[in-house]
Amino acid sequence: MTHIFLYGPPGTGKSTIGKLLALNLNLPFIDLDRVIETNAGMSIPQIMEHRGEATFRDFESSALKFIQNEKESVVALGGGALLQNENREFARKAGKVVLLTAGLDTLVERINGSSNTRPLLLGDLRAQLSAMLAQRREHYNSFTLRVQVDGKSADENARQAQIALGRFHLGAMGEYDVVVGNMEQIGDLLYERGLHNPMVVTDEIIAKFHLEGVMASLRAAGFEPTESILPAGEAYKNLETVNRLWISFLENRLDRKSTVLALGGGVIGDLAGFAASTYMRGINWIGIPTTLLSMVDASLGGKTGFDLPEGKNLIGSFHPPKLVLADPSLLLTLSDRELRSGMAEVVKHGIISDPELFDLCGHGLDWVKNNLEEIVKRAMAVKIKVIEEDPYEKGFRAALNLGHTVGHAVELVSRFELRHGEAVAIGMVAEAKYAVRVGVAGVGLDEAIAKTLSALGLPIDIPKEIPREEIIRAMRVDKKKNANVIQFALPVEIGRVELVDVADLESIL
Ligand code: NAD
Repeated sequence: MTHIFLYGPPGTGKSTIGKLLALNLNLPFIDLDRVIETNAGMSIPQIMEHRGEATFRDFESSALKFIQNEKESVVALGGGALLQNENREFARKAGKVVLLTAGLDTLVERINGSSNTRPLLLGDLRAQLSAMLAQRREHYNSFTLRVQVDGKSADENARQAQIALGRFHLGAMGEYDVVVGNMEQIGDLLYERGLHNPMVVTDEIIAKFHLEGVMASLRAAGFEPTESILPAGEAYKNLETVNRLWISFLENRLDRKSTVLALGGGVIGDLAGFAASTYMRGINWIGIPTTLLSMVDASLGGKTGFDLPEGKNLIGSFHPPKLVLADPSLLLTLSDRELRSGMAEVVKHGIISDPELFDLCGHGLDWVKNNLEEIVKRAMAVKIKVIEEDPYEKGFRAALNLGHTVGHAVELVSRFELRHGEAVAIGMVAEAKYAVRVGVAGVGLDEAIAKTLSALGLPIDIPKEIPREEIIRAMRVDKKKNANVIQFALPVEIGRVELVDVADLESIL
């Protein structure tokens, strides 16, 4: 069983942040110092005074072992709990350690007033702390998952810890975990959740690269998985393919307790999720996204469906998965064009609420390829925050439409020659230019967005061969038709968008 350990110098807020993190992840919280006190029958200052630091460290090691058999929890550790090799090794095997760090001033400010309950810091607090930090510098520096807590609320720090861990729990529509991890974990994750009889649905391209890995992990966890391999591409996201899936479920004797695993991009996720939502009135499914777009967007939010000849995604359901496992290493087999297309959604998420993510996108595609895990974790955190606040698209979820009103129309008029993300990139620039023209955004915002998209190799201008009038007509049809007013999500600054009604569509382009 894996735990999440919060570690770091005294005063970084391990207990406060730990409680919030546990709440966010729907996990129990354990404060190791309280376990030590309960086991010893005295407070930590009393242990230090009567038994000395060495005995305290022994109590600490025993307390750590005590949690070994507890179910997965968030554990706040004492500031020196992992100094002993034995404890560090235990924590490494039992889970992941997130190090909280802070500047000396922050620590002094936070501990002032409670330093008499911290025996190792008695006397001149600043001097004691400074010496302790110097002595433990190398030790603390050796932990790779880190959250700098200065100047941020406990809520925000808990969120940053989730991003560092790549771990989220969604509860607004169905209850499920989103985990950034390794595909080899899938068998164990299924087993831990009590899920049964898995069938992997994928397409013929993805199957060549990644199907065997998933099947092997499932077999290693004791399952006898079946598979259904579909033709690849949006052209097959139709009722005929859904029907083919239903029949394949029947032939493989899937019952109400079975689990469908969607191994693929947005097309496979939408198809497999929809087939699962309707088969026997709804069975469990799990998302294993394999494109960047599906990791940071399509696999999150519970929307499933398929296309009609009359339009995309016209039939669908809300049917949240039981788990999403995103393994960024799967993206290494994706073409540059697909990766770039996904990056348009990542840039969009940066503009909506993560300026730092937006800056990272400006480093270009090669940098992105070397830092996929960070990109995936940060970008999915933005979408999760938005959909948790508005799961059924009644309000602010519309912010995710940034770039999409113009983008969908451009995609349609290009007859899908442009990938979705390419069209969204063009849409974001067009909509940002409009926002600047009407004073919703400050001068230069459109240029900043265009520069970042260009750095990734994404298009920013409407192709010359596409007439402007056709795009405006397509926008009208796409956005519920005869409406006189269309709502746009417009960028105000990097990190903030606003929903604005526009009546005069001609003024957009
Ligand atoms: P996609 O699913 O069409 O995949 C793109 C191509 O990449 C396919 O040919 C696929 O075989 C291939 N591929 C996928 N993963 C690969 C890998 N790891 N290595 C090599 N090749 C790989 O494209 P997409 O951009 O992921 O999804 C687009 C779809 O997602 C659209 O149908 C859209 O409507 C849908 N979508 C759904 C939601 C939602 O909330 N449900 C949100 C956004 C988009």
